[in-house]
Amino acid sequence: MPADPQRSVTDKPHRGAGTSAVEVRRSPRRSRTVSAYREGDRTVVLIPARMSEAEERRWVGVMLDKLAAQESRSVLGDRELTERSLRLSEQYFDGRARPSSVRWVTNQNTRWGSCTPSEGSIRLSHRLQGMPEYVVDYVLLHELAHLLVPGHGPGFWRLLEAYPRTERARGYLEGVVAADRLPHLPGDREE
Ligand SMILES: [Zn+2]
Repeated sequence: MPADPQRSVTDKPHRGAGTSAVEVRRSPRRSRTVSAYREGDRTVVLIPARMSEAEERRWVGVMLDKLAAQESRSVLGDRELTERSLRLSEQYFDGRARPSSVRWVTNQNTRWGSCTPSEGSIRLSHRLQGMPEYVVDYVLLHELAHLLVPGHGPGFWRLLEAYPRTERARGYLEGVVAADRLPHLPGDREE
């Protein structure tokens, strides 16, 4: 028996849809409400102290599903991604870059984005999902710029200068790469 019955289930790991551990915290001050949030790579579920173990299991499942649903909604779908690209092109490139399709791909682990100018198609690595919007926008603009200018010459970077957060986004991505020890820097067509 644990010494503190209030926290008796705390270190019993649950496994949710994701891979992170779940910590259940019982609060004597809660009577009915259940809530949950992510804390680092764990998920914390707050439940009333008097809840039974069966109820606890049920609620942990409910809350994990709810969090997962919220998080998946925050990821843009392919159509929204295309709309966003068109808006970015309008805003920064006078609408000159006109992608025919923009979509997420999961087979791109060493490049953040890629494009095929002859088709006007752009692909973004799913690894960008969950990163700040300004970073995703930068990668979109980078690929949009390649629809206009191949390679990374001065003309290319001049286009990117229109976006005020280019340097910040590049720094962010370089930090991610360094952290992952990936061999490639943010890339695109054919480095
Ligand atoms: Zn590039």
